Amino acid sequence: MEPVCKGHVLIVGMAKSGVGVAKLLLARGCRVVINDRRPRNEMKETVGLLELLGATVICGHHDLALLTPEPDFVVKNPGIPYDVPLVQAALERGLPVYSEVEVASWFVTAPIVAVTGSNGKTTTTTLIGEMLRCSGIQALVAGNIGTAVSEVVNHLHEDGSLVLEVSSFQLQGTVRFHPHVAVMLNFYPAHLDYHGSFAAYTAAKWKIVENQTANDVVILNYDQPLLREQAERLQARVVWFSRLQSISPGAVVEDGWIVLRQDREILPVLPRQEVALPGEHNLENVLAATAASWAMGGTIAGIASVLKTFAGIEHRLEWVKERKGIVFYNDSKATNPTSARQALTSFPGSIIWIAGGLDRGDDFSVLEDLLHQRVKVAVLLGQSAAVLAETCERAGVPEVRRVASLAAAVAVAYDLAAPGDVVLLSPACASWDMFSSFEERGRMFKDLVHTL
Ligand code: ADP
Repeated sequence: MEPVCKGHVLIVGMAKSGVGVAKLLLARGCRVVINDRRPRNEMKETVGLLELLGATVICGHHDLALLTPEPDFVVKNPGIPYDVPLVQAALERGLPVYSEVEVASWFVTAPIVAVTGSNGKTTTTTLIGEMLRCSGIQALVAGNIGTAVSEVVNHLHEDGSLVLEVSSFQLQGTVRFHPHVAVMLNFYPAHLDYHGSFAAYTAAKWKIVENQTANDVVILNYDQPLLREQAERLQARVVWFSRLQSISPGAVVEDGWIVLRQDREILPVLPRQEVALPGEHNLENVLAATAASWAMGGTIAGIASVLKTFAGIEHRLEWVKERKGIVFYNDSKATNPTSARQALTSFPGSIIWIAGGLDRGDDFSVLEDLLHQRVKVAVLLGQSAAVLAETCERAGVPEVRRVASLAAAVAVAYDLAAPGDVVLLSPACASWDMFSSFEERGRMFKDLVHTL
């Protein structure tokens, strides 16, 4: 636990995490200057509240003058790049630049379980939170998932647990962050613009284990060589998860069951068939969450009951409705071809695929084999519709339709679907050409499906 800070802190970025950490530090007696590039009148309410609590609020720029008088440390919003001149100047002067996760974690004495990886963080984090709660343990879920860590730390019991989703951006700003259980799901190339290279991106992610000791646990994906290779250099006890191999200690699939293996002992959790969450990729998340919850003291009964009932998070391969034997899934969060690939892999065939959106020059050819094998109709919309139509035609999709709106897409899909088909919104593209967010797109899809 960090000694109470009496110093002077500069917080850059006045989003949820900046405001949260400001409140936390002000309550501990720090002098807080908080800064945002947006003009004051766009954030009147927040500014008013922070000033009332004693912060100095400076808006409209990230001026270098913010470093005078010199703060003891800077808390930077994870979305602000390190090459912004203010951040550069702070680093050049040798000032620590932390993320909110780092600072908030100084005030936590309960055990932390932290989840990172390129894909599956939100699903796995949510599963762990539910599994611990179902085991009778207080579990507060926060971090990259949408609630600032600073907002929850005051509500955490000594015998509770803090369940955090942490991104590479957040991890890059950590120094003493120390999860008792760290989960590394997978590495795929992502956010290379921010980190500069794949090596820098993975290095940021590995910071999750930096302060772990032999009393801690790290949960690693055995099926990813990049993760497997690192096991020997880690201080913490390694527990694996694997879809493909029966490795110990670990959470694996054996004879059709999800099991926990420890030495020769095998603890059956649940028949794989009874897991509610669809998709092979989700099996990874399920196994990782099972291993992590077990390491945090969760019970087999608590873990199994969540696996049986937890059907997914909104917009991630979310079951929407069955009508006349046609099942509708909302996977609006699939904003790139890799995610859409996961969704297409999750159904054996007879897919009516609704896709398309913002054109970012993505390479859709990675979908061709699955389009060929599993998609009977493609209904395409948005900026990328033309490029996707070419891909579908090359792949030999029997029917390809282009439409002007999501409403038309749902109507066409329903019209062409037969009992047993799956209508899948998994756009492979961001939503911003037609919607304000993937959430808005997903909700509109669900509304349209419900009014069929
Ligand atoms: P994140 O929080 O890391 O973005 P989510 O749990 O929100 O991950 O899932 C986002 C998308 O990533 C899903 O819709 C799915 O397409 C894909 N995905 C989820 N889990 C995995 C996994 N374990 N491996 C590969 N892809 C995954």
